[in-house]
Amino acid sequence: MAKKFIPPAASPEKGEQAMVEGILEGSPDAVGVAVIRLDCGCRKMAAINQSGEPASKIIMYRDNAESICEQCQNDHGDYFRVSNQFISWKTPEPDQYTKEMIIAKVLGSQG
Ligand SMILES: [Zn+2]
Repeated sequence: MAKKFIPPAASPEKGEQAMVEGILEGSPDAVGVAVIRLDCGCRKMAAINQSGEPASKIIMYRDNAESICEQCQNDHGDYFRVSNQFISWKTPEPDQYTKEMIIAKVLGSQG
């Protein structure tokens, strides 16, 4: 399948930031949280450890809603509906080399 271009986002939005902090709190091994924005407005997040492996379950949520939308319930946030994705790093951030490795592994290997 052809790779889809997804522009990088700079930083989490307010609601995302709160979720990121909650996930980091529950995942002591995490160096950051992958944030995946879907075109329907739902979000997918997962803590990532030093090796670029998942350090938590994948969490899906929707701002100001009790549950994710119907479409996500059906396709679990299909990759082709991703509108934006990035990693929100825990401070202190890993070095540049580690960050690039993790980004390539976590965000670059999909699709
Ligand atoms: Zn959705």
